[in-house]
Amino acid sequence: MKVLDIQCANAHVFEGWFADEDAFQSQVSAGFLQCPVCGSAAVHKLLSAPRIRRSTPATDKTAQARQDAAPAAQVQAQWLQRARDMVAQAEDVGERFAAEARAMHEGEQEGRAIRGVASAEEARGLLDDGILVLPVPPALSGTLH
Ligand SMILES: [Zn+2]
Repeated sequence: MKVLDIQCANAHVFEGWFADEDAFQSQVSAGFLQCPVCGSAAVHKLLSAPRIRRSTPATDKTAQARQDAAPAAQVQAQWLQRARDMVAQAEDVGERFAAEARAMHEGEQEGRAIRGVASAEEARGLLDDGILVLPVPPALSGTLH
């Protein structure tokens, strides 16, 4: 997983999570990636991604394995396309998000769409366990209130 800082033509900076650089590029060229503030599809990534660099060598190996297993860029693009609907339908579990997602993954709870708050660490842990986590730009969830 790569966490990229992205900037739109109107200088809004937001964060995107991608399987790899190729996934980012294909989403940009397909027009799926839009600024959550102004909706502009004219976006580019900023050069620095400091969170990636903190990885230890062991973590890098894990990250590489995870990238290999990551869904194709096309699948990810479809996810983004449906994100708006999913957010609208998802149950807001707030800060219990990581625990709920894990319980569903392990079959302790019936699967359902949830949204909520997860730290970067929690999200990374879920991804490590093969649980698909889709970050939602704050502007998108904000429209629900
Ligand atoms: Zn913008």
